Amino acid sequence: MLNEPENGNYSNPIRIRAHHLLCIQGYQGHGYNKEFEKNMDKIVKQLESFPEQELEIIAECDDICFRCPHNVDELCRADTNSHMRVNDMDMFVLEKLDLKEETIDSAQNLFNLVNEKLDNFDVQQICGSCSWKLKCLWFKEKDVEILNKNLKMHNP
Ligand code: SF4
Ligand code: SF4
Repeated sequence: MLNEPENGNYSNPIRIRAHHLLCIQGYQGHGYNKEFEKNMDKIVKQLESFPEQELEIIAECDDICFRCPHNVDELCRADTNSHMRVNDMDMFVLEKLDLKEETIDSAQNLFNLVNEKLDNFDVQQICGSCSWKLKCLWFKEKDVEILNKNLKMHNP
């Protein structure tokens, strides 16, 4: 059940769906509308200034989805398959990070885990069909790493 933020604030711990652990790291201020961006700006700023902030990791609509125009009755309705697709992304990330739903840990620890445990194949699996790829800093950095590895493989 999605918590209604009090006075416009997110919950504490902040509830974050698993695949958003990647998206937060790639956020550059672009979102679905102004309200979404305002909320996302606030969450990202909090995590940057206070990396010890606790996050609860979930696989359903979170404190980011809360202000998204695609959140309809707490399901992602960006398109007909989006609910299943984003849920699969969450479950994939949980499995790869060896985390259970409702795990609570600091943002810093969770971001470290993402960056240590996800390999190139995982990045393609999670981000392959995302429409934000070209604007996502996290994906762009991973994409360059993949490109460099491929170049090395073909030109040892
Ligand atoms: S490319 Fe999309 S799914 Fe992947 S981290 Fe960026 S915003 Fe998230
Ligand atoms: S598009 Fe879907 S998963 Fe992404 S923030 Fe909006 S409701 Fe959440």
